[in-house]
Amino acid sequence: MEFSPIFPDKKTPILIAGPCSAETEEQVLTTARGLKNEGIDLFRAGIWKPRTRPGAFEGIGVQGLSWLRRVKEETGLKVTTEVANAQHVYECLKYGVDVLWIGARTTVNPFSVQEIADALSGTDIPVMVKNPVNPDYKLWVGALERLHKAGLKRVAAIHRGFSSYGDSKYRNVPRWQMAIDLMQEFPGLEVICDISHICGRRDILAETAQKAYDLNFNGLMVEVHPTPDAAWSDAAQQITPERFGEMTRGLLRRATTVNDPEYLARIENCRSEIDDLDEEIIALVSRRMQLVREIGVVKKEKNVAVLQPERFRALREALHRRGAKSELSEEFINLLLEAVHQESINQQELVMNQVSVISEQSTVSSYQG
Ligand code: PEP
Ligand code: MN
Repeated sequence: MEFSPIFPDKKTPILIAGPCSAETEEQVLTTARGLKNEGIDLFRAGIWKPRTRPGAFEGIGVQGLSWLRRVKEETGLKVTTEVANAQHVYECLKYGVDVLWIGARTTVNPFSVQEIADALSGTDIPVMVKNPVNPDYKLWVGALERLHKAGLKRVAAIHRGFSSYGDSKYRNVPRWQMAIDLMQEFPGLEVICDISHICGRRDILAETAQKAYDLNFNGLMVEVHPTPDAAWSDAAQQITPERFGEMTRGLLRRATTVNDPEYLARIENCRSEIDDLDEEIIALVSRRMQLVREIGVVKKEKNVAVLQPERFRALREALHRRGAKSELSEEFINLLLEAVHQESINQQELVMNQVSVISEQSTVSSYQG
């Protein structure tokens, strides 16, 4: 799949900003005027708002589109809004919205994405696809594919993090690796980082934006409101246009490559040590799995269940303690433990089933014999 850039003439980073929701014409225009001064590339505002729980503000609807048209006329900024069905698409086309985006709660539903792709077929309007709310890489790629198959080539992706259960520093945990995988699989695809929905709070926006720059995202999407605390939706994560300007000006753009020989030599040394360590990690994990399989054999003999909750709890506590001493984040320890434990369960189940397959086979062959 080959994609064309949404902003062909624009040096990255692409800056997309505007309120979570269009609330009043005045609020939309004030935000746009403030952001025009901060040099953004695209003005965002949600007109139809998919809310997780009913009762919250669900968007101003079609009248908001005429406010976006005024933003275009008055400031010259290009505008974007979220679409979730074919009707939304037709209304946006009618009002001259420049770019559309598909929200996280819509990307999860292939029926909706297909409906949007069909409604857009024959146009070349750019579309940005947010990751689905759950960390399902294929679902994200599938949505991009549906648009591509409908003939749309100016397609970009927006990384907005993934919902999770339990406490986290983030509203939606970033799981950066999934966005990195997407960049690697589709080098021509622009990937934008929606720091507002990842963070869910103002105080960690700047550090998250810097992280996105360091990971070579093509740009940022940020929710901006003239009076953030009074916003009708997502108040805690919105910032003023002025704060947006300060934040983006404070971000460092680091070079992706440098030809300085001293730098290259130092990097090369570290990389070769990292390669050796990676090899060691794989060897250690493989040795661990060998022991896990041995335990599987014993459990099979004694007819003991694969999952031992007490043991898992003790393991998790010990790892958290060690992780804290080694400056590893709790988030990382949890992910590591989850991956290693899942693989251990799979391996033990394999051993236990293999044993029974072998014993079934030997029963059959002895019967036949
Ligand atoms: C939004 O951008 O306002 C929005 C609803 O985002 P998401 O689909 O990422 O939740
Ligand atoms: Mn929002």
